Amino acid sequence: MARILIVEDEPAMLSGLADNFEFEGYEVDTASKGDDGLKKLKTEQYDLVLLDVMLPVISGFDVLKQIRAQNIQTPIVLLTAKGEELDKVRGLELGADDYITKPFSLRELLARVKAILRRTGFDPNTSSQSIQIGKLTVNFESYEAVDEGEQVKLSHKEFEILHYLYKRANQIVTRDELLDKVWGLDYQPTSRTIDNFILRLRQKVDTPKTNHILTVHGFGYKLVL
Ligand code: CA
Repeated sequence: MARILIVEDEPAMLSGLADNFEFEGYEVDTASKGDDGLKKLKTEQYDLVLLDVMLPVISGFDVLKQIRAQNIQTPIVLLTAKGEELDKVRGLELGADDYITKPFSLRELLARVKAILRRTGFDPNTSSQSIQIGKLTVNFESYEAVDEGEQVKLSHKEFEILHYLYKRANQIVTRDELLDKVWGLDYQPTSRTIDNFILRLRQKVDTPKTNHILTVHGFGYKLVL
């Protein structure tokens, strides 16, 4: 399913949108300030962003301007308030893909988001299908992995690590980041444990000729696709 980021400072609006999009099957991430949204957009991969215009610290327009200036082309739907007619035009000029005026109907917003995802080439029918990583064909939704027609057993943690590395493909992922995103706070494995997980994943992913999970000494790992 598509992964979306919602940047909105009104708590009720933010949680309402997040709940509804999650209910519709989207993977949702949130930010309540412009600078946090900007940071997430620069470091993570999303299929679409719902971006409120009036935000604390950095406005939605500035977030939009900055990410487009960095050539990040994630589709953006601006959430504007009534009476901000001029802002819509400005937003579209700055590179937003669409806008919706508050108060809006949720059904309309969902329809627009779907339309944009279709237009930008996101296909919900293929996205839940398999991804090729090295010799492994992986489906992160059904937790299945196949190598030349044979099922490969990956533990839940191995899937999660691989999924996280995949989401950040071709970028360095630090050990701390993996600890935080995959293990959370309840249990802190030693860096040796992580190394062992990576080792096992490599055996399942890498082919004799290509290494896909690289160790970046002193930093962490990088999945190269
Ligand atoms: Ca606002």
